[in-house]
Amino acid sequence: MIQSVNPVPAFDIKQQYTTIEAEVSAAVLEVLASGRYIGGPMVEGFEQQFAAYNGVTECIACNSGTDALYLALRALEIGAGDEVITTPFTFIATSEVISAVGAKPVFVDIDAMTFNLDLEQTAAAITPKTKAIIPVHLFGQPVDMTALMAIAQSYNLSVIEDCAQSTGASWDNQKVGSIGHIGCFSFYPTKNLGGCGDGGAITTNDQAIATKLRILRDHGSKIRYIHEEIGVNSRLDALQAAILQIKLRYLDIWNERRRAIATYYYQFLSQIPVLTPPQELPGGTGVWNQYTIRASGEERNGSSAKYRDWVRTQLQERGVSSMVYYPKPLHLQPVYQNLGYQPGDLPVAEQTCHEVISLPMFPELTEEQLNKVVYALKDCLG
Ligand SMILES: *Cc1c(COP(=O)(O)O)cnc(C)c1O
Repeated sequence: MIQSVNPVPAFDIKQQYTTIEAEVSAAVLEVLASGRYIGGPMVEGFEQQFAAYNGVTECIACNSGTDALYLALRALEIGAGDEVITTPFTFIATSEVISAVGAKPVFVDIDAMTFNLDLEQTAAAITPKTKAIIPVHLFGQPVDMTALMAIAQSYNLSVIEDCAQSTGASWDNQKVGSIGHIGCFSFYPTKNLGGCGDGGAITTNDQAIATKLRILRDHGSKIRYIHEEIGVNSRLDALQAAILQIKLRYLDIWNERRRAIATYYYQFLSQIPVLTPPQELPGGTGVWNQYTIRASGEERNGSSAKYRDWVRTQLQERGVSSMVYYPKPLHLQPVYQNLGYQPGDLPVAEQTCHEVISLPMFPELTEEQLNKVVYALKDCLG
């Protein structure tokens, strides 16, 4: 067995910081000296730059990706008695906000190749109570937005894109978050555009929705101390905005590097029969927040989850870290027992949770580290 002196981490955000340390330090000190810590020119500047980057007219910065999704539902006045369709194979935040506004999440199975919502089943799940669809561009891979918008339009539904993992991705040359009615972004440190703390943003081309969002994020208030509705406190700090302004300038370079890494992985991993590496749909340009493969060889270890865990142990022993996003689908989470889903209801998502392994993926991965990952997989599986 190879002794791992320097294990390859699944992600490494400290290293990215060292490449832009001088710029970030100067910007942070400038904010500290300015005395404008909440709102102000840094935040407004970032909102304008992020809107321009995504090709939309409006950007509303807020405290997190979760808040962005919550505020989007509130702005669309979705609540008790309404249904919102989404995927069971995502982070809990996507469906948590549906429950938080009092609406009912309706989970639809995923497509095995893209890990994203199955659009035929999405159309079939629409009822008179359905008000919106929340597609997630999972792992940075865009949903077929042409097909999804056609479904939404024919049933007069709103589309809120969960772009938390896909900042910079595009479908048919349009940035995700600019195609649906509202786009929701997260600047959590491990996302493609990550701050040094929590942060989020909402994009839209609808000025009326934007106005509502600005009121909701600021305690339901347009004029100070006059409150029109129950809102929240969800603002982006000036410090985060200053850091994000700098990082936005590097985002395309970093995403290109992620794409090159994905191409490299595909070239080698598609030759290993028990592995299924991810592929892009024609029309989609993904940004690979995660590089997630399937390991399916249950005959070797009795069950698919055990086989996947065995592969991960083999990788760990060869100095390669990996992650499981996500081990349990949302429709089978304890918190959603009241919705009445049973194991077997959404079989593709359930099987996927047993098979997935997310390999090291971040722009600063070196050739040597990539070789180590590929060699480790070939060594134990090839
Ligand atoms: C990270 C994430 C969120 C939530 O973002 P936060 O900024 O952590 O609140 C929502 N949806 C998906 C798919 C995510 O990955």
